[in-house]
Amino acid sequence: PGPGVDNPSMDPRPPTLLIVEDNEMNLEALSRLLMRRGFQVLGAGSGEEALRTAAGSHPDLILMDIGLPGIDGYETTRRLKADPATAAIPVIALTAHALVSDRERAFAAGCVEFDTKPIDLARLTAKISGCLGR
Ligand code: MN
Repeated sequence: PGPGVDNPSMDPRPPTLLIVEDNEMNLEALSRLLMRRGFQVLGAGSGEEALRTAAGSHPDLILMDIGLPGIDGYETTRRLKADPATAAIPVIALTAHALVSDRERAFAAGCVEFDTKPIDLARLTAKISGCLGR
């Protein structure tokens, strides 16, 4: 990692990210990439699991896949925002669709950012840094 805002390891406590992704291979690949960038990473394979993990572990930021089994990423984000214990955690929506309507739905649900798959790591980490204020 380079110097400055791109380098979360400059902070004494590495930021913790919760990655919500139902595809196990995608979850593992993205986790590994972000850990290499200096983040602590938690994973959740469903919206329900994400709600439990967010409430229990208070991550600094959540990467939210929209297409999930059970409650989808929009509904999961709405529930996170409705709970005072998790409402302040920034959520970045991740979806394979770049449609304007998907963006709007993500922001309406309470997401602060939006990014599309396949993941562009430089673009995503820039958005993560922006949301973390570093
Ligand atoms: Mn998915």
